[in-house]
Amino acid sequence: MNRKRHRKVALFGTRISECRGEDMGKYHITHDYDSLLDELLKLEERLAYISENGIAVGIVASEVAKKKSGGTFKVNADCRKVPTYWRTFVPYDFLITIYEPNCVGMDIDQLRILLMHELLHIGVREDDPLKTFVRDHDLTDFRCIVDEYGMDWSKTRTE
Ligand SMILES: [Zn+2]
Repeated sequence: MNRKRHRKVALFGTRISECRGEDMGKYHITHDYDSLLDELLKLEERLAYISENGIAVGIVASEVAKKKSGGTFKVNADCRKVPTYWRTFVPYDFLITIYEPNCVGMDIDQLRILLMHELLHIGVREDDPLKTFVRDHDLTDFRCIVDEYGMDWSKTRTE
């Protein structure tokens, strides 16, 4: 009985490290978007709360062409809050992942809107600015982006 159990644990352990090796090659820290990020955080009034509250944002580039679960809709990017415990190792409050294969053909203006979209997901509680959350869209996008750039802002010329 005991022996069987040990074998199971060993197999599970192997599977975890194999997965990790595979994934690490597909995601990496990138500074390619730093100038866009700085520009948005400094100049975009709607995002001023991010710097004002000292929120640190890191960007991860992904080679994975992520799709929305169960659908064909391609995900350009997403925004995640770093759990408090993980901050022991991760020096950011939020991480934005850019799924680069899904962004091929986007021009600099589209990338700027994409980053703005992801930054708008950073939510700060009004009653306690130290508490943050991932904010939901108000439409399928953020109303302010749709109003200003239209629903199809992310479409490339080849689509
Ligand atoms: Zn979004």
